[in-house]
Amino acid sequence: MTTTHDVINPATEDIVSTIEQPDEQATDAAIERAARAFPAWRDVAPGDRARMLRSFAATVDEHIEELARLEVANAGHTISNARWEAGNVRDVLHYYSAAPERLLGRQIPVPGGVNITFKEPLGVVGVIVPWNFPMPIAGWGFAPALAAGNTVVLKPAEVTPLTAIRLGELALEAGLPEGVFTVIPGKGSVVGERFITHPAVRKLVFTGSTSVGQRVMRGAADQVKRVTLELGGKSANVVFADADLELAAATAPYGVFDNAGQDCCARSRILVQRSVYDRFMELLEPAVKGVRVEDPSLDSAEMGPLISRNQWQTVASYVPDDAPVAFRGSSPEGVGFWYPPTVLAPVSAEAAAFREEIFGPVVVVAPFDDEADAITLANDSPYGLSGSIWTRDVGRAMRVSRAVEAGNLSVNSHSSVRYWTPFGGYKQSGLGRELGPDAPDSFTEVKNVFIATEG
Ligand code: NAD
Repeated sequence: MTTTHDVINPATEDIVSTIEQPDEQATDAAIERAARAFPAWRDVAPGDRARMLRSFAATVDEHIEELARLEVANAGHTISNARWEAGNVRDVLHYYSAAPERLLGRQIPVPGGVNITFKEPLGVVGVIVPWNFPMPIAGWGFAPALAAGNTVVLKPAEVTPLTAIRLGELALEAGLPEGVFTVIPGKGSVVGERFITHPAVRKLVFTGSTSVGQRVMRGAADQVKRVTLELGGKSANVVFADADLELAAATAPYGVFDNAGQDCCARSRILVQRSVYDRFMELLEPAVKGVRVEDPSLDSAEMGPLISRNQWQTVASYVPDDAPVAFRGSSPEGVGFWYPPTVLAPVSAEAAAFREEIFGPVVVVAPFDDEADAITLANDSPYGLSGSIWTRDVGRAMRVSRAVEAGNLSVNSHSSVRYWTPFGGYKQSGLGRELGPDAPDSFTEVKNVFIATEG
């Protein structure tokens, strides 16, 4: 039976829209349409598939402002972030539109004949997206999957379906054939589960919490289904005494409070060398208090509300009345799921706030003594997604970058995701890599063909 879901604006708590959520039969029907669309899409000439993806990118480009405004209303993202996110979908489509004409195989020298490899698409790819970055995370899955010749079914998170639904419409407007890219908004327990169990879905790209990712991986084992997993994080921002402390402190809030801290790459543990700890905290306080938390539709907004009342409660549970709050920023009062940027210090490495992904604007700060101590603390986590290293010593920057067990590190910056470069996690932060030049390969099987030339 089809159910409905009210989409709430997290800044105003108003209902933005009511969405129908398909049941299992409707999900199966959509997956089966995608399976029927696959052979024709696979056989589209590479140059034509490239042209269709470029047309999709151009259509997204014409709707950047509309998509961005939709995300502000649905997810409470600041308008400047939301414009970047819609632009990222365009750029990622454009980048992978070059892939169909470059899916190169190899000719391998062998005796007695000719040996060639092909990169063949898998079939239907299921992309499951969380609520924190609805547009970019969707694009990182569907763009390279489509480019490699697969059809895609995409499930947005229950609470943030609107931009994904719009992208599905834009794909059709841009000329992608019916069934090639289908957005199925719905529940994880219905639509998401069916992606795992339906035999026509040949690969799952899951981004979300580590616990649901484990469930996806276990379920995928039944059919030896391919998986890419992008999961949680508890990334470290390591500040050495020789760093540009002013810049490190001025940028640290944006490394963790962007998107109200609802970012898998949030640098939510700031580790500071003990000799400059007090000075760093003095510099950090005005930087945190200066973060503009306000109506996310304003161009000046730097941080909006949390996504939901539930998320607000989860975040608040890490800051009980006796929490060691060093200082906080401000946030609007009244309706909306507002939470102020909050700095906890001192926090021991055993505390829940140091160990668990809070996924809100709460950061812990802890001191370290030397390079070895910094690396041990940074790696003292089941996660390994991202991180930053602040130092003027290039040798140290390289040593620490190599020693920190995380997939995406930045030196003297907080950059994590650039579509030209691979993105993914170590340890329980995930499995496989998205983006970068190799992403289409993870949506193909390598087929080896030997042609005898003798006898
Ligand atoms: P979540 O795990 O609750 O949900 C993610 C998606 O999985 C949603 O679409 C949900 O409906 C679906 N789902 C839920 N149960 C399912 C099931 N049994 N089978 C199949 N699908 C199911 O995560 P969330 O709360 O939406 O997102 C926050 C989490 O995502 C955080 O842990 C964050 O770190 C992580 N995240 C990771 C990355 C990354 O790239 N590593 C990026 C963004 C978010």
